[in-house]
Amino acid sequence: MRKEFRIRPAKHDDLEALCALRRASILATTRTTFTKAELHAWAALDTVGALRGRIDDRCTLIAESTDNLQASIGLQLDSREILALFVLPTAQGHGLGRTMVTAIEKLAVQFGLLELKLSTAETVIDFYRTCGYQICKNASLQPHPRTGLMAMEMRRHFPHRQTRFGRIIAALHQQLGISPDYGYRFRLKLQPECAHPVSIGEDVFSRTQNLSPQAARAWHAMRNAAATDGVELQVVSGLRSVDYQTGIIRAKLDKGQNLSQILKVSAAPGYSEHHSGRALDVNTPGFEPLEEEFENSQAFRWLMDSAGKFGFGLSYPKNNRHGIAYEPWHWCLL
Ligand SMILES: [Zn+2]
Repeated sequence: MRKEFRIRPAKHDDLEALCALRRASILATTRTTFTKAELHAWAALDTVGALRGRIDDRCTLIAESTDNLQASIGLQLDSREILALFVLPTAQGHGLGRTMVTAIEKLAVQFGLLELKLSTAETVIDFYRTCGYQICKNASLQPHPRTGLMAMEMRRHFPHRQTRFGRIIAALHQQLGISPDYGYRFRLKLQPECAHPVSIGEDVFSRTQNLSPQAARAWHAMRNAAATDGVELQVVSGLRSVDYQTGIIRAKLDKGQNLSQILKVSAAPGYSEHHSGRALDVNTPGFEPLEEEFENSQAFRWLMDSAGKFGFGLSYPKNNRHGIAYEPWHWCLL
């Protein structure tokens, strides 16, 4: 009987269960050309370090049923590669593997990736063929760089998975001279524009600001809780459209600024969390908006302690994995 699964990005709390799933799947492999010793050596490889990075990128997906993890699959942004599809032996034969491959392709498209490669054992080549993957030109079975086991390199191009929004943004980036690898190089996902924005009142410049309904509710609750603790949180900026973000980039280009410098401080249109209505820039009286000194405010300390309780997180901390400048004022509903 087919079980019900929920597919979601893995969190750090899932690491132990993920490693157990990986070990169980490897050791229970029966249709294989590998020896028992090779399977044991593979199962014993320490992958926690590699998994951690992908969890930070939300690029490991897991399928869970009510009782435990049933499958996992990873996307490696740097090498544009599918890593480690594991399906528990008891969950095999119901199409879950193929569902996981589709899910990781849909995730890849959100980073602007329209092609992925993978290295797979000989006995799994046919499975990937049914998922649309083809053996790379001139490829042959070669020792896998991580496992040392013989593997074949396969590849699939899936432009049909690109969304309409993704196509519009790709064309816009071409006009602006932004490289097609922007999304996965900066580890940023496309951020479709919020469909139903609601007002959250005026910002520090007396402009009306909007957020998504869910973010607006969370923001009001957070601002009220801060006020109860004697901390005033002000809005500097909320929802921003793709057109608005494009205007920011064009104005900087017109002033003669270099595109790579601009993209360190301003997200490319289509990839700003502000489009989604989930992000807002925050300030407090006595501080200049959008300045790093905000980190010295009582408001920033309060946010670092309490914003998580309302679902908000700091998107660009110091030395963040995106290579984007530190933004202590930018908070996003996770
Ligand atoms: Zn911001």
